[in-house]
Amino acid sequence: MAADASGRSRIAIIGEPIVAADLINTGAAPGSAVSDDLLSAERGTAAWWRIEGARVPGGGLPDIQALRRLRSALRDMIEALVDNRPVPQAAVSDLNFFTHSAPASTRLRLTGTGLLAETHWHGEYGGNPRLAFIATQAAAFLSDPSKVSKLRRCANPACSMIFIALNPRRSWCAPGVCGNRVRVARHHRRAGGA
Ligand SMILES: [Zn+2]
Repeated sequence: MAADASGRSRIAIIGEPIVAADLINTGAAPGSAVSDDLLSAERGTAAWWRIEGARVPGGGLPDIQALRRLRSALRDMIEALVDNRPVPQAAVSDLNFFTHSAPASTRLRLTGTGLLAETHWHGEYGGNPRLAFIATQAAAFLSDPSKVSKLRRCANPACSMIFIALNPRRSWCAPGVCGNRVRVARHHRRAGGA
């Protein structure tokens, strides 16, 4: 958790269908009211990797600069898609750099009940499997228009979070965070308060 401009704790929004969405939500969008970056400190980054650990390949943690570069490419692409703007070529090139950085191979294994596919990410060419995985998973998602149409910005104007609305009625990054804040603000306005 990190503190936002008002001193309240900002909770990482996690568990979106692609790790890329969780990653961009660790940092605030340019110009948003929230100015903190959960990846600004070594400790915050380690905590984020612990949360995402089960969803990404194992192996060493990537360099923080590389992680931030991937995040920035993903944010530029996803923001453009959400706003219906052309996706910047530079962001696409950056993402492709990461998808190429570590190849993956799939192997089938016979189990007692059937077949199990195991994917191995190759870090032996110098790239980081975690970054390559996040980029590859995002590339598959972002090139599918039916999935892109589910990308949404949180309905709280002070929030910069972007999420994937698997439920079309979802309008908050987290109902317990932004949903409550906006409802409380509306209540205060109606009651003639601040
Ligand atoms: Zn929000």
